[in-house]
Amino acid sequence: MELNKDTIKQFFDDTAPYTWGFKKDVLNFIKVVTEKGYTPHFAMRCIAARRQAEIDQVNILEDVLEQWRKKAPKCPKCGGPMHLEPVNSKPSDQVPGSYKSIWFCANLMGCGYDELSKKSVSEWIKKFGIKSKLTVRPYNQYFELPKEAMDAANLPEDIDFTD
Ligand SMILES: [Zn+2]
Repeated sequence: MELNKDTIKQFFDDTAPYTWGFKKDVLNFIKVVTEKGYTPHFAMRCIAARRQAEIDQVNILEDVLEQWRKKAPKCPKCGGPMHLEPVNSKPSDQVPGSYKSIWFCANLMGCGYDELSKKSVSEWIKKFGIKSKLTVRPYNQYFELPKEAMDAANLPEDIDFTD
């Protein structure tokens, strides 16, 4: 695109929602990236691939939590949902005895039921057969899916930075 009074005005009209500081950050980012030998297009593909990987991880976590809600035991006192947390895993969660986890009623104020367990959180998760059918793709697969990743990140597939 030719650089003239009209195209400069159009550029600033089109990018008006972005602050001057943000635009300077973008220029600085492109400068750092290109100085290290990457094209801006390569940088965009990396960012898009990482974003897709994060979306996959969130989907897996949501899948596991949904199975947890269905399979985890109910509170024996009030019938409400129970939470599970590790104990004796770090300085701030120490309890006496060789316990590895604690079940506690989600209704902390109204019910307050809790029970220590010698099984670890991961042993409990295994016991309930909770395992996501989703998997994080091998990292290079995100680069084999540039279109999908680009769409997810809402980035253009290619930009001509040569003019
Ligand atoms: Zn309860």
